[in-house]
Amino acid sequence: MKSKFHPDKNGYFGQFGGAFIPELLHPNVKELEDNYIQIIESKEFQDEYKSLLKDFVGRPTPLYLAKTLSEKYGAHIYLKREDLCHTGAHKVNNTVGQILIAKKLGKTKIIAETGAGQHGVATATVCALMGLDCTVFMGEKDIVRQAPNVARMKMLGAKIVPATSGSKTLKDATNEAIRYWIQNPETFYLIGSVVGPHPHPDMVARLQATISEEMKWQLKEKTGKEDPDTIIACVGGGSNAAGAFYHYFDDEDVELIAVEAAGLGVNSGESAATSQLGEVGIIHGSKTILMQDDYGQIVEPYSISAGLDYPGVGPLHAYLYESGRAKFMNATDKEALAAGFELTKLEGIIPALETAHALAVLPKIDFKKDQVVVINLSGRGDKDLETFIQYLED
Ligand SMILES: *Cc1c(COP(=O)(O)O)cnc(C)c1O
Repeated sequence: MKSKFHPDKNGYFGQFGGAFIPELLHPNVKELEDNYIQIIESKEFQDEYKSLLKDFVGRPTPLYLAKTLSEKYGAHIYLKREDLCHTGAHKVNNTVGQILIAKKLGKTKIIAETGAGQHGVATATVCALMGLDCTVFMGEKDIVRQAPNVARMKMLGAKIVPATSGSKTLKDATNEAIRYWIQNPETFYLIGSVVGPHPHPDMVARLQATISEEMKWQLKEKTGKEDPDTIIACVGGGSNAAGAFYHYFDDEDVELIAVEAAGLGVNSGESAATSQLGEVGIIHGSKTILMQDDYGQIVEPYSISAGLDYPGVGPLHAYLYESGRAKFMNATDKEALAAGFELTKLEGIIPALETAHALAVLPKIDFKKDQVVVINLSGRGDKDLETFIQYLED
């Protein structure tokens, strides 16, 4: 069924999206655009994708009723356990799908950008699985703060290229990846979120949609109803949120809450709360909302979590924001850390710092009695232990 939250034939969600790319990339992007839906919908792809999601990734991921958290906040809070996916986050749902598409198109060289390193690891993993050449672009600052993931990528056989410009984080890694792609248009750019030129945002959303597809039958089993009252997910580029929202876009009774990183505070100048601070502009090949100054220069974002440290959101999320379909909230570093420690103590689950932002809005919401809430637990906290430990009180 066609939803108004699916892109039109030119890749636009309302006024957002499109493909703002240099001429040199046109043939490559056009080839993908002409083929991705047909490939994804083919039986051959679906059989292989489903089988890998089941036996390699470990899907379906559980939908877990968090009893103590539920009691504390006075709602039925379910956690969609993407943290249990192979490699520790939802990212692998996308990389498994894209690697199959790349193979189908006869590509042998894969490039990717990464922030927290989760997408880099998920890409290096599927490249190892398929025996394809893998190059990952990563900000120099992120290479330092995400050392365990750098080690994993190297072990998996990926080449790491440090991005040394700007804030030396995700945005700069993406710039480097795009620059390399322009010089090497035959490579397949395996983008890690619902960002970039059309058809990437739609392709990645379709590959993450498995999250809400599972949520539907899992909720039905547990509550008797397919629909929750509320779904909460954190937003960097927006892929885990896109996956968690996908099958509920048109069910207006289901409240969708997207949580951005407010860093030291939305108006502190050290933030990544794009929807609150951003304006319409073009970043990484698509028209969307991004943080920019009066001259259209991108403002450096900041968040304690590398995966949310991005100055834009994908065009789908810009449209979810503008249309009011999703409610945008935010959480500071401090609030996210507290929420991370809270989930660990109350439920025995250490979340990723990105995910902790989604949990951090619980105290800010006035829940009705018996409200059914699903929080997309996008990833596990192993990679963030160094950061958590700095704030551990004994
Ligand atoms: C990468 C990442 C995110 C942010 O990316 P989205 O595309 O917005 O989902 C969130 N959580 C975790 C655990 C991540 O690794």
